[in-house]
Amino acid sequence: MKTELIVVGTELLLGQIVNTNGAYLSKELADLGYEVYFETTVGDNKKRLTDTIELASTRSELVILCGGLGPTTDDLTKEVVSEFIHEPLEYDEESLEKIYHLFTSNDKKMPENNKQQALTFKKGITLKNPTGLACGIFITVNDVNYLLLPGPPSELTAMFEQVAKPLLRKLAPHHKELISRYLRFIDIGESQLVTDLSDLIDAQTNPTVAPYAKSNEVMLRLTAQSSDLQIANHLLDEMEDKILAIEKEFFYGYGEELTIQDVAVNQLKQKGKTLAVIDILTDGQFFTKGIEVKGGTDVVKFGLALENKDMLTTVFDKTFDTNDDEVLGKEIATYSLQKFGTDYVMVLLGDLSRGNDELPEGTVWFVLASENGVVCKKRVFKRHLAYMKDGAVKHAYNFIRL
Ligand code: ATP
Ligand code: MG
Repeated sequence: MKTELIVVGTELLLGQIVNTNGAYLSKELADLGYEVYFETTVGDNKKRLTDTIELASTRSELVILCGGLGPTTDDLTKEVVSEFIHEPLEYDEESLEKIYHLFTSNDKKMPENNKQQALTFKKGITLKNPTGLACGIFITVNDVNYLLLPGPPSELTAMFEQVAKPLLRKLAPHHKELISRYLRFIDIGESQLVTDLSDLIDAQTNPTVAPYAKSNEVMLRLTAQSSDLQIANHLLDEMEDKILAIEKEFFYGYGEELTIQDVAVNQLKQKGKTLAVIDILTDGQFFTKGIEVKGGTDVVKFGLALENKDMLTTVFDKTFDTNDDEVLGKEIATYSLQKFGTDYVMVLLGDLSRGNDELPEGTVWFVLASENGVVCKKRVFKRHLAYMKDGAVKHAYNFIRL
């Protein structure tokens, strides 16, 4: 169903708030199988809002308006829609009672303008507001469906989830729902991944494959469409198998929120292993990210963060007689394994100050010691400092994982 969003509020146009409602609705509607073709942000202005609704009604079958259902004079949405569709507004008794009750139970007199929040159309469906006062409305006029939702994000999401979604499912019951799966990759750039998978990506129809470059990693979103959930999952499984046959080496897990430290720390936890961290590079981020993982304190037992190597002798009460980062890292790791008694010690050191302002460059050494010996890896980063540190932390956890 051709769908259009109209997001109402001058504060959005002034950049004072970010349009999270638009992003939320677009994602939810896509998942429900609705095709969102247009989204307009319009200020609290009667003429411009009317023009926007008029244009939307000529090209869309479902017009969703969000914001402007409140009690103040700049809340115009219901009034403007009413004039445009020639339907009078009337009070929804239940909503009115709820508003009235809120005020009287707090020993307050209800201001007259609050009644505005209970307005609805007799011929429409009144949508209860689970977390606020203004009711929403659904109404169909001349084959165009209008859905009016409140602006505050907590009210919008609750009303959409609990009231509007079931209604939209009924409105277009034959819609195919979309389900997505997110695959995460590290140690490979977006362009390389896309090149490796170009045959699959070019031939994609169902599921679709969309790459997202993240800081020092890449995410692929696979989206399958089917009215049958099992079939959709099967399509995703097939595509995932094809992708992993090519890129298994770089794949580390599923989900929009998953991190490489989640995976590394959980692997150690499952094996009952502990880790000490010596970080002479990322201002303690390496340690912090590890203990922030749920259950991370069971694994990451010790963290030492040094701003530079000068303090090493003082901290370890020992002289490390080398300028070579690889050799130094191995010495610290071996020594710390004895000293701290953890199963693993990871040392992160290097030099992030090379290159110049236009093209900063840094070298990072990852050194991991365990009862099996010491292994190490070098990596050169090119980008700004924060990016290099983020990369060092992620690659360090990836090194532990492998
Ligand atoms: P109220 O009853 O609070 O007046 P309303 O339905 O009239 O609600 P608005 O007045 O348009 O909604 O917006 C209320 C508040 O909700 C805004 O100040 C803003 O904080 C938030 N809001 C509105 N629209 C959006 C949006 N598109 N994205 C994120 N936040 C929004
Ligand atoms: Mg308002």
